[in-house]
Amino acid sequence: MPASSSNSSLSTLPMTITDGLLSAATWLASPNYNVRPKGLSIDAIVIHNISLPPNEFGACDSSGTHYVKALFTNQLDWDAHPYFQTIKGAEVSAHLFIERDGAITQFVNFNERAWHAGRSSYLGRPECNDYSIGIELEGSDFVSFTSAQYEKLAAVIAAIYKAYPKTRRHLTGHSDIAPGRKTDPGDYFEWVRLREGISKITMI
Ligand SMILES: [Zn+2]
Repeated sequence: MPASSSNSSLSTLPMTITDGLLSAATWLASPNYNVRPKGLSIDAIVIHNISLPPNEFGACDSSGTHYVKALFTNQLDWDAHPYFQTIKGAEVSAHLFIERDGAITQFVNFNERAWHAGRSSYLGRPECNDYSIGIELEGSDFVSFTSAQYEKLAAVIAAIYKAYPKTRRHLTGHSDIAPGRKTDPGDYFEWVRLREGISKITMI
């Protein structure tokens, strides 16, 4: 970033990735990961949305833990909400979770295989978890995402492009790799806005 820049949206840049960890993220280890298959390089990024309970943002359990963070660390109380019964026992994760205010949490090292995509296929290749990085935005299919989320997501992706150059050509959504089964990130996710944000950063 140029020293003379006064654009506040760039104030958090650049983000860096060292040994699979994002500098701008708070680390919260998830047990839901395993090693990536040998010989496969990381070459795709998958965007998701999630909210727990659905369409509620920032909801926390009695100890103040965000429900999504509780889910990704196998700490979710399945009895805390009727919806949670429908996902009881789920062992899932994502590499990153970006909240409505732009706060970023990393649950799995990028070099490891997070469990975000489920049954999936991208350009004829099954098991997207093997070769992708999964990013969850706190959101739903029915509302817009926040400016803070677009800004942070663009910066995150620019950092991923730099650390894992093969991902540059494969930016996709969960609904694209699991059609008929998944709908996220949904119609409210503005791909053009994201791509413009990434372009601004990668041109710096
Ligand atoms: Zn998803």
